Formats: sequence, structure tokens, C-alpha cells
Amino acid sequence: MTTAIIDRTGATPLNDAPAPMIDPFGRAVTYLRVSVTDRCDFRCTYCMAENMTFLPKKDLLTLEELNRLCSAFIAKGVRKLRLTGGEPLVRKNVMFLVRELGKHVHDGRLDELTLTTNGSQLARHAAELADCGVRRINVSLDTLDPEKFKSITRWGELGKVLEGIGAAQAAGIHVKINAVALKDFNDQEIPDMMRWAHGRGMDLTLIETMPMGEIDEDRTDHYLPLSEMRARLAEQFTLSDNAYKTGGPARYLTVAETGGRLGLITPMTHNFCESCNRVRLTCTGTLYMCLGQNDAADLRAPLRISDDDAYLSTVIDEAISRKPKGHDFIIDRTSNKPAVARHMSVTGG
Ligand code: SAM
Ligand code: SF4
Repeated sequence: MTTAIIDRTGATPLNDAPAPMIDPFGRAVTYLRVSVTDRCDFRCTYCMAENMTFLPKKDLLTLEELNRLCSAFIAKGVRKLRLTGGEPLVRKNVMFLVRELGKHVHDGRLDELTLTTNGSQLARHAAELADCGVRRINVSLDTLDPEKFKSITRWGELGKVLEGIGAAQAAGIHVKINAVALKDFNDQEIPDMMRWAHGRGMDLTLIETMPMGEIDEDRTDHYLPLSEMRARLAEQFTLSDNAYKTGGPARYLTVAETGGRLGLITPMTHNFCESCNRVRLTCTGTLYMCLGQNDAADLRAPLRISDDDAYLSTVIDEAISRKPKGHDFIIDRTSNKPAVARHMSVTGG
């Protein structure tokens, strides 16, 4: 049954913009997230095991193919595109793809081209990203303590990430900080991180840890429901609901004391599926219609079958017609298995 179309992207399509794809629950699919590589120069403990087996390089789509796929989605009404990974900035020549996709921003076919990055390579790419039309980025940062940063990322260096954030801001890019809230790791530090981010004109968004992929530890040890974190913050800060939307899954609060915004992404305690406008493409051309489900569609074969996008377009439509209502993530000690076997780095956060 098709119900009213829900489009919470805030997008303002051109008059001749293509009609958006509509899923079986009446949701307009206007947002594509693309994992351009599953590889990363960090090994965040909640995301990856230390010894990871990555996809064979021969299975990867070329950047030209990724560009063609993304452009096919834009022709089908996608208005917002996020590059993610793995770490998107470690993919060789990734700036070629950013520049090509940026042309759609300049031409008004795309409202936003953005990326989620760990920030390690940002200092050297920031100016070019801005030049390509990237106006906002998300930088993942779970702590401001250099030692703790090393322990959570295993391989990362805080100084480089801070330098990258500074370079992005200097290039005129709006930076949002994303932190996974982890019990007995950064929960005590969140108020300071919030003051730090808000003091520099950046939103801070907290994320609940999701059961995706085998890691070297038990996720239940650090799982922190954000309902609990919000209650703790409310003891120190005046928090009020804010209607601000970025087209993503975060709900926002205004913090009176800092004048900044705090985002909450709560896949575990407050399911955000009803307003889901997203699908996710991997670097091998697999389309996942839901972050938390296994059903997927292969777009690589239809892409390679012909230079014409007609068949590809049909396969995309068929995939969207299978977009599920939502995910069923649970973290508990009795079901100690991840809800989905693939790591977040395959489909991107
Ligand atoms: N490497 C980039 C980065 O870290 O920003 C982009 C990819 S990373 C998979 C995207 C986001 O997913 C990051 O903010 C990361 O903290 C988050 N993430 C990774 N694994 C997660 C998990 N199991 N639960 C919740 N968030 C996770
Ligand atoms: Fe890499 Fe991002 Fe996963 Fe950390 S969260 S290991 S930076 S992909």
C-alpha cells in the first residue's frame, strides 16, 4: 500500500528536477550514502577488529564507475550524497570522484555533497574539498584526550585530526563532530567535548553503538543508551528540542549554556526508520536498502552490461520497491552476535 510521501530532506528541487523514488512505505528516497572503500587507516575498537580482511581490490568499482552509479541515482531524484567508508580519504584519487560529483552541486542537480571522515587526511584535502563544492562534513571524534584517542582508534593520532578540522574550517567548510557514546570510555567527557565543539561553531552529535560486524570485544560492555546520556546532561545543561534537520537521522537539542546544538542518533533506543530517506551503496556496487538488514541488490552487473543506464535504472527501481520498513537492532548479553555480519565500514555510517 502506498501512503503519503514523506520527504524530510528539506530539499528544494528545481522545477524540472526528477520525481524522487518512492519506497513501499511512501518514503521518498533522496539521500545516497556511498562507501568508496572498506579500508581505513584507523581500527576503532567498536567498528573493526584489529586484523581485518578487506575486499579484494579487484572487486572494487573504479571511481569512474562509482561516478556513473551516483549520477544514475541523481537522475532518479537523489538530492543529497554522502561519501563515507571505511575512510573515504584513503581511497587513491578519491578527489577525482569528489570533483566529478561536485559538478552536480554547481549545476543545481544535487543539494549537497558531503562526507564522513575520521579527519586523518583532512588537512591536505580540505581546500580542494571546498573548491569541489563540499560545504559541510562530519568528522568522527570520540575523545579529546590523545592517549584515549590512540586506544579507541588503535592507529590514530589526535593532533592530525585536530589539524584537519582546523583546515576544513579555514577553507569555509562547516564541520560537525560525531562521537559514538561509550560507557566507561567517553561518557564523563561528553560535557567538555560539547563545550569544545560549540565553542568552535560545530554541532556535536552522539551516536549509539550498533551491533554490526564481529569486533575484538563485547559491545554490551560499552553500550550507552542516549536516553540515559541525555538525562545526565540535563542535570548540567538546559536542553530543549530543536526542529533543525539535516536530512540525516539525528534529532537535535539546543543547549542554552553553550548556544550550540547537540544531535542524538539513536538507532537502538529510538528507532528513526519511519523517516528514512536513505539507501547505501558499497564500493563493489552492492546497494543496501537498510543499514540494519541483509537484503541487497547488485548494481555492478547491470552497470557493466551496457553503457546505457536504462537497465540499471530498472534494477534500482526494483531494489527500492524492496526497501524494508526498518531495522531490528538489539544489544543484549543473551544474543551476543551482531545483528548484521558486515561491519559499518562496508556500508558506511
Ligand atoms: N571512517 C569514517 C569515520 O570514521 O568518520 C567514515 C566511516 S565510519 C564507519 C562512519 C561512522 O560510523 C563513524 O562516525 C563511526 O564512529 C561510526 N561507527 C562505526 N561503527 C559503528 C558502530 N558499530 N555503531 C555505531 N557507530 C559506528
Ligand atoms: Fe575507520 Fe571510521 Fe571505522 Fe574508525 S569508525 S575504524 S575511522 S571506518
